[in-house]
Parts: sequence; C-alpha cells; structure tokens
Amino acid sequence: MDKLLAMVNGWRQGRGMHRLRRTVQGGFALFCLWAGYRFYLFSRWAAGRSPAYVPRPPSVEAFLPISALVSLKRLVLTGRFDPIHPAGLTIFLAALAMGLLLRKGFCGWICPVGLLSDILAAAGRRLRLLRQPPAWLAHPLLALKYLLLALFAFAILARMDLAAIESFQLSPYNLVVDARMLAFFLAPSAASLWVMGGLVGASLLLRSFWCRFLCPYGALLGLLALAGPVAVHRNPGKCLDCRKCERVCPAALPVSRKETVRSPECIGCTECVAACPAPDCLTVKAGRRPLPPLALPLAVLGVFFAFWVWAVLSGHWQTQVPLPLLQKIYALALTGVAHP
Ligand code: SF4
Ligand code: SF4
Repeated sequence: MDKLLAMVNGWRQGRGMHRLRRTVQGGFALFCLWAGYRFYLFSRWAAGRSPAYVPRPPSVEAFLPISALVSLKRLVLTGRFDPIHPAGLTIFLAALAMGLLLRKGFCGWICPVGLLSDILAAAGRRLRLLRQPPAWLAHPLLALKYLLLALFAFAILARMDLAAIESFQLSPYNLVVDARMLAFFLAPSAASLWVMGGLVGASLLLRSFWCRFLCPYGALLGLLALAGPVAVHRNPGKCLDCRKCERVCPAALPVSRKETVRSPECIGCTECVAACPAPDCLTVKAGRRPLPPLALPLAVLGVFFAFWVWAVLSGHWQTQVPLPLLQKIYALALTGVAHP
C-alpha cells in the first residue's frame, strides 16, 4: 500500500513522467538497434554473403533525412510519394507534424540521439566535465544548426529542380544510401572515428552537443514549433526560484526566468515540469488550455503511429524497388558508390 501511495505521489510530483520518458526513449532506441541488426542481416543476404533471407526493415530510412527532404519537395511539386524510401518520407512528415503541433516532441521523446545525448550529459556531470558555455559562445554555437539547415534548404529547396530531384532519387547513390550508411557504422574510417569521438567528447563537456548545436533536423522542427500552440508556462506566483527546472532542461533553457517557454530549442520533454517541486507552477498548455501530464507524450506517440498506420495501409511504407534489383545494388554498395 505504501509503495502504491509513493507511486501515485511520484506521478503527481512528476517523477513518473521522467521514468515514462526514459521508457519511451529506451523503447525506440532498442527498436532502432533491432531494426539495424535486421537490416545488417538483410544486406548480407542481398549482397550474396549469406543464404538466409531476412526482410528489409523500412524503418532504417528514418536515418535518411536528406533523401526525405528531397522526396518532400517532389511530393509538393508533383503530388507523388517517394517509391524508393517511402518510410523515410513518412517518418519525416510525422516529425514535421509533431514540430507544428507538439513542439520538438520528436526530439524529446522519440529520437535515439536525444537519449544518447542525455546519457553522455549524465556521464559528463558525474565526471565533473559538464559546463555551461558563456553566452558569447552559446549563441554562435546555437546558430550553427540553423546555418546547416539553411545550406541544405538552399541546395535542395532552392537549387534542385524536378529533373534534378528525380535524377537524384533514381541515382545508384540514393538507391543504396541506407546500405552505405550501414557500412559507415560497421567499418568507419579513421576520420569518421575521430569525428564521432570528438562529438562524444563535446557531449561530455556541453549538454546535448549534437542536438543543440549541430542537428539541422532539430533546427527545422524548432522553427516549426515557433508557430505551434503547445508551450510550458510558469506561474511566477507559485515559483520557489529553486531553478531545478533549469538544471534538468536538456536544452539548457532559462525556464525559471520565463513565463512561457516559446524557444525553438524546447524539445517538449517536460523534464522541467517533472522536476519542479512547486505544485501547479509549471504547466504544459495548448494555447491557454492546461494539458494533463500525459497528453503531450500520448499525442507525440499518437501522431507517430498514426502516420505509420496510414503508410502501411496505403502502401507508403515498403520500398517499391524490386528485390532482385536491391540485390544488385547492395552488392555494389559494399564496393562503393560515389555521391552524384
Ligand atoms: S523548478 Fe519550479 S519552483 Fe523551481 S525555479 Fe523552476 S519553475 Fe520555479
Ligand atoms: S523547457 Fe522544459 S520541456 Fe522544454 S526542453 Fe527544457 S525541460 Fe524540456
């Protein structure tokens, strides 16, 4: 009984929300590992290195955001859905919808890089390495991901016409880009290892280094979130000025000095709400309407799975590339295909 009461109190004070977030993030991270392993087995079969056929998991296309952005432009121009990496476009559209409606809920609850960033930040804190960059450094660092987004937007949205898009989509590079990505992780070059090691080291020093400073995907979702209805609100009359909200915020936002957190950096994780000791001080609201604690994560998962169900039922999940052709191009991918 005591345990049950403690559990209920934990939920009321928000600790349950923190555990729920970790469970959801962990579930998606495990799923990504499982999909990556299945994709590895599939690519071995497709390249003729194993006789055992394993179906290709379409969800690996989630890691092809550039291809998804190209496909999105083609969808807008022609109304035709990408037949090569349709799951990648579906997941991209789901993330955009979340960005518009639910802040960067995709970053806060689904993306496995967010969980990895949190783990590295916790390790950095334990090792006493974690630092808060001074404002003169934080602002240019925060601008980097928008700069990267602008470069991609210029190269794809402004410079690529329909002919260039269709030629890219049918290029050997795009057909095998998922296999190339797998090969990159299975046998990284010395330069890649240095870059990844640098990112891990930087994440131990500066919280969520990749997500806050370098990820153009997150930058795009943050810009969409500026127009969205959902935000964390603080009631200054109830605030204890303890700043616990700021200590747990993965985006290092000054929650205790805001009445409404509208920053494009907010990932909608609700960790601040979970950590706040003052009842009803921090609330997630849609417009002026307070939302129950579970509403945001349930809505994030609802949008994600709604897009997935729609894609599966409408035939926009599995690639339309025939298996024999995939076999040929996967064998090619493991010997190297240059960027067009
Ligand atoms: S955790 Fe809550 S009470 Fe403490 S500073 Fe933040 S909003 Fe105020
Ligand atoms: S302000 Fe709150 S909801 Fe937004 S990122 Fe920080 S902890 Fe998460």
